[in-house]
Amino acid sequence: MAAADHAITEESLDPQDWESMRALGHRMLDDMMTYLETVEERPVWQPIPDDVKARLRQPLPREPQSPEEIYENFLELVLPYPMGNIHPRFWGWAIATGTPFGMLAEMLSSALNSVPGGGEQVPNDVELQVLDWCKEMLGFPLEASGLLVSGCSMATLVGLTVARNSMAGFDLRQEGVQASPHRMAFYCSTETHSSVQKAIELLGLGAAYLRQVPVNEEFQIDLAALQQTIAEDRDAGYKPTCIVGNAGTINTGALDDLDSLADICEREGMWFHVDGAFGAWAALSPKLRPLVAGMGRAHSLACDIHKWMYMPYEIACVLVRSAEDHRRSFSLMPDYLEHHTRGLAGGRVWFTDYGIQLSRSFRALKAWMSLKEHGIEKYGRLIQQNVDQARYLADLVESSLELEILAPVPLNTVCFRFRADQLDEPSLNRLNEELMIRLQEEGKVLISYTTLNGTYALRAGITNHRSRREDFDLLIQEVTKVGKQLLDEGFVNAE
Ligand SMILES: *Cc1c(COP(=O)(O)O)cnc(C)c1O
Repeated sequence: MAAADHAITEESLDPQDWESMRALGHRMLDDMMTYLETVEERPVWQPIPDDVKARLRQPLPREPQSPEEIYENFLELVLPYPMGNIHPRFWGWAIATGTPFGMLAEMLSSALNSVPGGGEQVPNDVELQVLDWCKEMLGFPLEASGLLVSGCSMATLVGLTVARNSMAGFDLRQEGVQASPHRMAFYCSTETHSSVQKAIELLGLGAAYLRQVPVNEEFQIDLAALQQTIAEDRDAGYKPTCIVGNAGTINTGALDDLDSLADICEREGMWFHVDGAFGAWAALSPKLRPLVAGMGRAHSLACDIHKWMYMPYEIACVLVRSAEDHRRSFSLMPDYLEHHTRGLAGGRVWFTDYGIQLSRSFRALKAWMSLKEHGIEKYGRLIQQNVDQARYLADLVESSLELEILAPVPLNTVCFRFRADQLDEPSLNRLNEELMIRLQEEGKVLISYTTLNGTYALRAGITNHRSRREDFDLLIQEVTKVGKQLLDEGFVNAE
């Protein structure tokens, strides 16, 4: 060895001082526990001051900064201005709340930094276990296959890929959609989430071939119209390929008649996919379970675990009845990923054979730990609690002279508005929009919005384990107060 070699000082990214990193870690953990414990004392959301935005524009760091300083920066600039969805009075869109134990599980998962794509490592077995539990909870047979993914959009893309490839009738992976002798048509209701259309577009099928069928007064897919569209498509030479049913739409929480959709698919020889982003978990409550009857008959099911199982982002799952169809859509085995029978490249299931991602996070751990922490019955009670809260809120709306309900409330979502008889429809729409934004800026309660049959609706989607009844009393109080304020300020019909 040349003497000069001894002079090489190699670097790593580990702390030079483990003790101070450990102390900082303890402090962070303490701070975050307190932060979660006291979440209710802060505004749900607050506007971001201009100077905070300005201070976030920092030059590319070239020299190291101290972890303590970076953390101070986080406390000052990041922590006060998040989305607000961990707050007990956040009911915008369909958003996850998270839990303290889930946060800790994320830390453990990051510490291992495992990549459960395949191979002989327990993180894979943890994911298989979580998937088996999902099958059991959601009424799928144990022989079905599954995959944990980032969110329901990704789960939908995986499920519809399997649908497209398995139904094509030729080697679609080899020949591509171009080779299709008949244009494939997919069907869903007009209330279906945009992620389904995105998947159809990404799959090269064309949004025009996602037939969006009208809904009935309950916002469920109109079965007669659906059957008629399928028949017309068949006559016109298209290939009716797949029906996407909704277990809980984003707008109103409507659940399609999944059993009837499964019947139609059986009769027509079509694939049945269910988007159960949050609503699938109604299966955990004995009282709500009948609403998702037929879900277990789907060929594929996409659902979130973050939303209504209250786990930290990101986690969702896709289940596919035929493990063989699932694998055939995604398995590709280059030499460097060949599966062995022993060693680290052993292992029963390689998740890379069932999805798009190769490198993927150990998101299974937070599900494994959370399901064990609370047990399934508690999750069922919390889901029922949210549905009961939605009913409670709907009753408050219905008994108020200033408010009106705009859609049925089959699940956890309430659409309503402030009314004023002197205003015409366009003005009421504008008033309710302004009302919703003011509520957000006030920071006491947070709801979102949608448009139902041309009417601007205030919308509360309750997937929050921290909400209590009195939070909804406050919501009604605030909506009424701000609505009246707007009228007092002279909010009148536009010319
Ligand atoms: C949220 C949602 C999706 C998309 O799920 P992500 O986890 O946000 O990707 C799909 N369908 C419905 C009904 C949803 O509510």
